[in-house]
Amino acid sequence: MITTLTCIVCPMGCSVSVALENGIVTEVAGYSCARGKKYAEKEVVDPRRIVTSIVRVVDGEIPILSVKTKESIKKDKIFDCIASLKGIAVSAPVKIGDVIVKNVAGTDVDVIATKSIDAA
Ligand code: SF4
Repeated sequence: MITTLTCIVCPMGCSVSVALENGIVTEVAGYSCARGKKYAEKEVVDPRRIVTSIVRVVDGEIPILSVKTKESIKKDKIFDCIASLKGIAVSAPVKIGDVIVKNVAGTDVDVIATKSIDAA
């Protein structure tokens, strides 16, 4: 099976083809650099993404906190991750890097704060 995808590692957006046989990459073509080759191989075998979102803040100087997964998670877990963040509210103060949700959607990856928010 050959999958053609657009590399998203840099703005060049190369079209990269990956041949897969029995779950093993047998050939990669169309990339312009090693980073693109690595991305394409991983994207076909085990696609992952960092997820960014927001949660509500109670008693903070601002009412919304930006958050992200600490590491990339499997692409098919993205919607579960976002659903897990619905209805979450944290109390200020919050420090950048604080864990907001542990092991989100059973991924073994935590969701962390990407900024600090003082109490109101
Ligand atoms: S293959 Fe390399 S040059 Fe092409 S889009 Fe990917 S990172 Fe950029």
